[in-house]
Amino acid sequence: EVRVRFAPSPTGPLHIGGVRTALYNYLLARKLGGKMLLRIEDTDQNRFVPGAEQYIMDSLRWCGIEIDEGPEQGGPHAPYRQSERKPMYMQYAMQLIEAGHAYYAFDTPEELDAMRARLTAAKVPNPQYNSITRTQMRNSLTLPDEEVKQLLESGAPYVIRLKVPRKEEVRFNDLIRGWVVVHSSSIDDKVLMKSDGMPTYHLANIVDDHLMEITHVIRGEEWLPSAPLHVLLYRYLGWESTMPQFAHLPLLLKPDGTGKLSKRDGDRLGFPVFPLEFHGKDAETGEPTVSSGYREAGYLPEAFINFLAFLGWNPGTTQELFSMPELIEAFTIERVSKSPARFDQNKVRWYNEQYLRAKPDSELAQYLVASLQEQGITAEVPADKAEQIAGLVKERATFPADLAREARLFFERPNGYDEQVISKKWNAQVAGALGEFAQALPAATDTTPDGIKALLTQVLERLGIKIGQVLQALRVAVTGAAAGPDLMAIMSILGTQETAERIEAAVA
Ligand code: GLU
Repeated sequence: EVRVRFAPSPTGPLHIGGVRTALYNYLLARKLGGKMLLRIEDTDQNRFVPGAEQYIMDSLRWCGIEIDEGPEQGGPHAPYRQSERKPMYMQYAMQLIEAGHAYYAFDTPEELDAMRARLTAAKVPNPQYNSITRTQMRNSLTLPDEEVKQLLESGAPYVIRLKVPRKEEVRFNDLIRGWVVVHSSSIDDKVLMKSDGMPTYHLANIVDDHLMEITHVIRGEEWLPSAPLHVLLYRYLGWESTMPQFAHLPLLLKPDGTGKLSKRDGDRLGFPVFPLEFHGKDAETGEPTVSSGYREAGYLPEAFINFLAFLGWNPGTTQELFSMPELIEAFTIERVSKSPARFDQNKVRWYNEQYLRAKPDSELAQYLVASLQEQGITAEVPADKAEQIAGLVKERATFPADLAREARLFFERPNGYDEQVISKKWNAQVAGALGEFAQALPAATDTTPDGIKALLTQVLERLGIKIGQVLQALRVAVTGAAAGPDLMAIMSILGTQETAERIEAAVA
């Protein structure tokens, strides 16, 4: 059985890169009939942000990413929050010590600083606690056994470090990148257990992936450098034969391609980088902060998800619109790209337009009525009328709120007329023709858009005026604006009486 997990740390709002990771995990799980787990990796208590876990769950729910096992759902491997699993990790660290693959280290922060300073002074490019430097430090490999025992019994603070071999090639086959080979000399003796008794990310992550029977680890490229270390941990814990397969997803770049898209870019570049609005606190000043979200900006979750799916994956065809079930059907890890994906703000807007306009007019009518009210227009709108209006204005809308903006003209008479059109297209002859049309309107028998157009044509023919001469002026008389949805349809929805009164007010 395929089992995948999304394993965020609740250190702040979930960035769209994180949502993409969750999405690809979910798509693979559903495609292969497996299980999708949510595991909260909260072992670093210094970086804990209140509300972040709830935010993560709310975001996944909004996106339609369903969790099979997790803190809310429970499951056979509960708890799914690492802080609640704390007592489970120590035994694995002890197992590593007994097998000679890990050791106690008693160095104080000052001693570690001094070591780094010494190495820096000696121009060592990348000062590390490793197979070479560990021989000069205070740990259970260098101290006499008696002293180690005493230190442990006296309650001296210690960490447990992985004993990384000096010369070994570590290799694994990444599903996206192919063979990755790293020399162990570039890996340091990572801390596995901290002095507060909490495991580090590395130990907790491997232990939990093993215990939770994870088959595929799909995560961001920033974790690629940790993967060789993880391979060593699986090996030393005796779990190599059931080690999950790795797939490291490509980076997400800023729109101009100049670097990784960061949590800060959103509000700086003017588009959201979070699925939902997040209310937090400034790390330095403690002032409340608000980061914008796709939901609040008027994006539909299905548009957002479709857009995200394409940031690093493509189906190999020209089809761009995919519902979640279609994504599940089409998704394969083989089609995930190795190269970074560039965030494209216009593309996500395009997706939203497509999904908004594809909704049935009856549903758009509900958005329309709600956002009219938000914009302070409280008129009763009969359902059939709201539907007609929504169907007409949707072609000019990207977000649900645009529907109401475009629809205002149906509820408010013009409070001014477009100056340019007036100066170029308005004259006595045009005004006279519009006046005649207004007089003919109330008696119209066919009030469909075509019927109104026929009536207008008839009036203008009698006066010997071409329709092109009056159309812009007529639009301005009825709506005030130089552009908008189809004018004949506007007049048909407004009704002949209201249209006639507006024209008369303009020509007066
Ligand atoms: N807790 C890690 C994160 O926040 C998980 C990385 C992984 O998937 O192994 O991204």
